[in-house]
Amino acid sequence: MHFHHNGYISRDPRLEEAAGHGINRPDQLPETMDVLIVGSGPAGMIAAAQLSQFPTVNTRIIERRAGRLELGQADGIQARSVETFQAFRFAEEVIREAYHITETSFWKPDPTNPDHIIRTTRTADDPHNISEFPHLIINQARILDYFADFARNSPGKITPDYGIEFVGLEIEDGQDHPVKVTVRHTTGERYGEERTVRAKYVIGCDGARSGVRKAIGRTLSGDAANHAWGVMDVVVNTDFPDWRMKCAINSVKGSILHIPREGGHLARVYVDLGEVPLDDNHAVRSTPIEDIIDRANAIYHPYSIDVKHVAWHSVYEVGHRLTDHFDDVDTCDRGTRTPRVFITGDACHTHSAKAGQGMNVSMQDGFNIAWKLGHVLSGRAPETLLDTYSGERQEIAKNLIDFDKEWSTLMATKPEDLPSPEYLEEFYVKTAEFPAGFMTEYKPSLLTGSTEHQHLAEGFPVGKRFRSARVNRRENAYPRHLGHEAMADGRYRLYVFADAAHPASADSKVRALSDFLTQDATSPFVRYRAEGADFDALIEPVVVYQQNYTDFEVTDAPAAFRPLVGTYQLEYWENIYCTLPDEDIFDERQLSRDGVIVVVRPDQYVGAVLPLADHAALAAYFDGVLLSPEA
Ligand SMILES: Cc1cc2nc3c(=O)[nH]c(=O)nc-3n(C[C@H](O)[C@H](O)[C@H](O)COP(=O)(O)OP(=O)(O)OC[C@H]3O[C@@H](n4cnc5c(N)ncnc54)[C@H](O)[C@@H]3O)c2cc1C
Repeated sequence: MHFHHNGYISRDPRLEEAAGHGINRPDQLPETMDVLIVGSGPAGMIAAAQLSQFPTVNTRIIERRAGRLELGQADGIQARSVETFQAFRFAEEVIREAYHITETSFWKPDPTNPDHIIRTTRTADDPHNISEFPHLIINQARILDYFADFARNSPGKITPDYGIEFVGLEIEDGQDHPVKVTVRHTTGERYGEERTVRAKYVIGCDGARSGVRKAIGRTLSGDAANHAWGVMDVVVNTDFPDWRMKCAINSVKGSILHIPREGGHLARVYVDLGEVPLDDNHAVRSTPIEDIIDRANAIYHPYSIDVKHVAWHSVYEVGHRLTDHFDDVDTCDRGTRTPRVFITGDACHTHSAKAGQGMNVSMQDGFNIAWKLGHVLSGRAPETLLDTYSGERQEIAKNLIDFDKEWSTLMATKPEDLPSPEYLEEFYVKTAEFPAGFMTEYKPSLLTGSTEHQHLAEGFPVGKRFRSARVNRRENAYPRHLGHEAMADGRYRLYVFADAAHPASADSKVRALSDFLTQDATSPFVRYRAEGADFDALIEPVVVYQQNYTDFEVTDAPAAFRPLVGTYQLEYWENIYCTLPDEDIFDERQLSRDGVIVVVRPDQYVGAVLPLADHAALAAYFDGVLLSPEA
């Protein structure tokens, strides 16, 4: 972490000084605000956490519940989410607390005695070594707690306004705060009281029955539900030897997805309840827990579970539904007006729980829209940036629905009806990158450049998330994971992988780049930085040299990579790196030895890959996404 640059501090450095609207933040929901977030689930809390890093933006988050969530539904945390938590500074805590999935066991009917299940295969959870981060199981409520801590500790000091629900909204163009929102108090002395508040933008993070979605006329469309699953969180005594392993069980009596939970005893068991007749009218949802347990025991046979305690249970029907736009602008109006209302997470996409995707994808929705609103409302970016949200995230949701349809259908298919006996586990291994959260690849847009120069950095595909690798920090010879150093502070990152010249040499292309970045009128650091702001306030410059750390001094790096920061304008050296002798990032990520620039967006996706000497292309990228302070 970066601290002491504004003077010595002795408290926990994660408690950042209040700034802007974080100073004397009113306890009561005010009459007007910049952003109103509706709902404090995973999508809403990550949005609040991100916007708390933009203290000049007045953000409030309302939640109809009276207080913190106690029991959440989701528990599967994909590696991409853990990578995201790293940027919000709590990955280590979650990793310590959670259950780690390392393998999945596949159980099938015993060919010699089909009433019995036998273990047929074990597959590694990350067979392609996609990420250094683990796949975890932990209650959604804990994730919300960690985001709440980050939001409260950040300069904006955002905390949820519990006990207030969204009732409806109207958009009144031409006003400074065009979204008129009706809210109602659900608890306390003001119970039942309705009020009108006004916001510049609203983010609907209010789940599958979203009132915000309805208010902007968006609908979920797709398959009607026709397959039911019972789900229970239970502690048991059992002779089933894989109780503490993730399992996909496909028996003649139906199937189970078995997920061990944190703490050493608890497991979540998804029990297939079969096809639901069209005239069932949701009667299946009243299936008693005893019936779900009986069915589970039939599937685990010859093993059995003796349930000692049911922490939670539910019955749900699988439907796959999606909205066509994630904001209030129709295709025919796109470009003619600014979106004012956005929807995220389950408000936009619903599907089965068995691929463990909903919370994970919802968080990426919230992250995506929040930094963009932060940029627009703090005057860093043009409003056109907001149009990229719906375009980027709708396509990701569509891919998710397609994947989940395939996986949940396969899970419910009888073993004898699968194309081959190994089909399920082969599908699981083949598609592992998707459920781990790394298949997102944004199309060319304002934010995502072309692939013209991709050959210079094959390991950092444009549009995909920046995949970390290890490097050596030059100032103190401290090996670091490069991507893990990037915080969710709303800044772009300029990763400069140097040419082979010695850092001090006049031939170094990094030196020429530094001169451009620090002095040229078209440099984004010159053009878009506000008077008096630190050099790295909007874009964090990072350099990685090809040499070993003993081959050059940290002071050989040029000025752009030793920016002056904070009250005392101290030189900052932490972003000067070099390769590790036995783990060369240039080899690991197939980087050109002539050097390359990789631009990374505030939400960790690669925006552009450019030749080291193409200063004009670098300037052009930022001309599309930043605004000069006087604009
Ligand atoms: C049984 C089950 C298991 C699941 N397991 C997983 C899993 O392992 N991994 C995974 O990634 N996903 C899983 N999911 C899906 C996951 O729970 C959801 O996708 C995720 O919670 C969606 O997040 P969200 O923020 O969009 O909405 P929600 O979590 O639904 O949050 C919406 C919030 O808005 C509030 N709200 C609603 N209406 C209003 C209003 N009018 N005014 C104010 N506040 C309002 C609600 O109280 C709630 O706090 C599971 C779902 C189920 C049902």
